[in-house]
Amino acid sequence: MIKHLTLDKAKALLDAKEISSVELTSTYLKAIEDHKGLNAYVTNTPDLALTQAKASDDRRAKGEAKGLVDGIPLAIKDLFCTKGVRTTACSRILHNFIPPYESTVTQNLFDHGGVMLGKTNMDEFAMGSANTTSFFGPVINPWKANDNTQDLVPGGSSGGSSSAVAARLCLGATGSDTGGSIRQPASFTGIVGLKPTYGTCSRWGMVAFASSLDQAGPMAHNVESTRIMFEAMASYDAKDATSVDYHKLAPKQAMTGDLKGLRVGIPKEYRREGMCGQIDEIWQKSADILRARGAEIKEVSLPNSEHALPTYYILAPAEASSNLARYDGVRYGLREDADNLQDLYLNTRTHGFGREVQRRILIGTYVLSAGSYDAFYVKAQKVRRLIANDFDRVFKDVDVLLTPSTPNTAFPIDAKDMDPLEMYLNDVFTVPVNLAGIPALSLPVGLASNGLPLGMQLIANNFQESLLFKVAKAIEEDVNFTELPELLKRAGGAA
Ligand code: GLN
Repeated sequence: MIKHLTLDKAKALLDAKEISSVELTSTYLKAIEDHKGLNAYVTNTPDLALTQAKASDDRRAKGEAKGLVDGIPLAIKDLFCTKGVRTTACSRILHNFIPPYESTVTQNLFDHGGVMLGKTNMDEFAMGSANTTSFFGPVINPWKANDNTQDLVPGGSSGGSSSAVAARLCLGATGSDTGGSIRQPASFTGIVGLKPTYGTCSRWGMVAFASSLDQAGPMAHNVESTRIMFEAMASYDAKDATSVDYHKLAPKQAMTGDLKGLRVGIPKEYRREGMCGQIDEIWQKSADILRARGAEIKEVSLPNSEHALPTYYILAPAEASSNLARYDGVRYGLREDADNLQDLYLNTRTHGFGREVQRRILIGTYVLSAGSYDAFYVKAQKVRRLIANDFDRVFKDVDVLLTPSTPNTAFPIDAKDMDPLEMYLNDVFTVPVNLAGIPALSLPVGLASNGLPLGMQLIANNFQESLLFKVAKAIEEDVNFTELPELLKRAGGAA
């Protein structure tokens, strides 16, 4: 039943009273139990889910359905604080943390009637591209390559969310994207993911990684479902000083498939050596689709693109080292024994943080230290401005940019001892967007010759989410990506 169900279709079925939220929720709770092996969820909340589902059904029966996702079973990345429900950021240091407050994003989803199935696995503190740095172990991608049976990564850091959506263990999930953590896992698992304009979804109650880059966003099976979830998540929030009012500021596009006059840019710097063979093909195919619908395609230049990764890997660790200073064994989560305060900090942080998080704290502390601050941190801030200027300039000539989401398909989990620098390369196409603060969306466009999904990325200027949805929907309609992951093709899958 749930194999082909999407959030937008489920919403219509609920509205038509052809299905109840309790039925829907129970089906997903069972699917979660059946596919525990994916390790997509780290905390299940079946009682809460059924209570919320029942309340939703009662509202609908009275004709009082209250919002965009009323009765819809959702998964929440374990980075969003949920009142009374353990929130760990998949770190040992927070393994027992139960927040006394609700994040604004989850509160918004609940205010729109959303049902929370549980909290999803992620890279520790959202640092990673493979979901292999989680304290709770790696997440498995429901897709398999056609030439071997190895378990593959679902991408990261929102890997639990992407795997849960792709395996039909929920109808939509929240993610967070600091350098690509929504778009890259969406691409690796054949689903849609949006990194919204910085500030549109409140960061309040979201465990901080790099505050000037972190942005929450939705992940779902198709463009319309992603749009619905985003509309529910976005809000102005006085509790986040960087919050902006998307609903007031953003221009809305009519969702027609007519793209006449749309100017689409192909950034020439995004053509890289050594990319998986079919990427060029699906890039071309997507451009052809847009052209056939009336868009004009032109090559553009973003000359500072090559500096995006090194800039990100100075700024993100710098901010992380400062944000993560709060985990000292005194205020939150883990506290290790010690004879004095210094050792309490030392022991707690040594045993509480994993290797990748420690690496980032060390790099971040180094680039912020008195002797290196100007050479690294200040310089990186200047380059960040140049990267943002590139986009500003290009958006005078084009309305959207079309690029691949990732340079490769999902790779085996065993490759986890990969050189960290090679891992960082996964984000080469996604990171510039975070540095500029602008929105971007990844959608599945085809399969590589190894049978694994490949995503394309659409990038637009601030507050142009509606345009992204319109263009993505046109590609989605013409591509008609109906491929299912191996797990759902097998008998006994979540059918
Ligand atoms: N993979 C990138 C990193 O490791 C991005 C992570 C993210 O977007 N949260 O920092």
